[in-house]
Amino acid sequence: MSLRFRVLGSGSSGNATLIEAAGTRVLLDAGLGPRELAERLQSAGVDPASVDIVLLSHEHGDHARGAASFSRRWGVPLCGSRGTYAAAGLGAAEIAGYEVLAPGSTRDVGALSVTALPVPHDAAEPVAFLLSSGGSSLGHATDLGHLGPAVVDGFRSCKAILVESNYDPGMLRDGPYPWALKERILSPLGHLSNQDVARFLEKDLGESCETVVLAHLSQKNNHPEVARMAAEAALGRRGGTDVRLEMTGRDGTGWIEVSRSSAPRATTARQMSLFE
Ligand SMILES: [Zn+2]
Ligand SMILES: [Zn+2]
Repeated sequence: MSLRFRVLGSGSSGNATLIEAAGTRVLLDAGLGPRELAERLQSAGVDPASVDIVLLSHEHGDHARGAASFSRRWGVPLCGSRGTYAAAGLGAAEIAGYEVLAPGSTRDVGALSVTALPVPHDAAEPVAFLLSSGGSSLGHATDLGHLGPAVVDGFRSCKAILVESNYDPGMLRDGPYPWALKERILSPLGHLSNQDVARFLEKDLGESCETVVLAHLSQKNNHPEVARMAAEAALGRRGGTDVRLEMTGRDGTGWIEVSRSSAPRATTARQMSLFE
């Protein structure tokens, strides 16, 4: 069985992604309330108590809101950086355990190998995650101000990537947010814009990547079609292998399979037409 994942929710209303490989189940972030999280797991056919561990990217509420109560209710341990543990106040919470995974380090969770990669974001010790199993790998990065070398290098061999495409710079500048918040989002410790993602897709996406999911889109400062068009144009400029592009929002996605084969894939008709 290869790796597969399913976004249970994405964006400021709450983030959580379920990842499964060979009987191992990992929840990445728990930014939905514990009841909602359990319901979304159950509607994916997953018993919440069967989750092996909850990985936390950072302490912000839209990623960690439901973590402690989910852990306590279902007896599932949490895992993340020391900074996240302290900033989320987990020392004072009743939880089923916390395993420290320092940025830059790797540990096994059942059939999955999990690596935490440091990311620039205005949180205590935020990370992105790289999850791999039997030749399939997923890179998962939301909430980062720019794509630094740790993430770019870490994601280069991934078959699938989930990355935030948080805002369109024009919509953010002209939008309703107070200037201090706009500055925070725009800063190198804020969020990725559609253009940041486009640059990454064009220049740094690995040759073996087959699936890209755009996540954590702002409701006010972005539009799914604007984000999709920017990413599609960038993938067109990149050329090379065909990449399936998916979007996710507050309701998440269905299951997305991540292949393990490294066989070369056909180029798309559109890309081939560039050479005619
Ligand atoms: Zn967030
Ligand atoms: Zn955040």
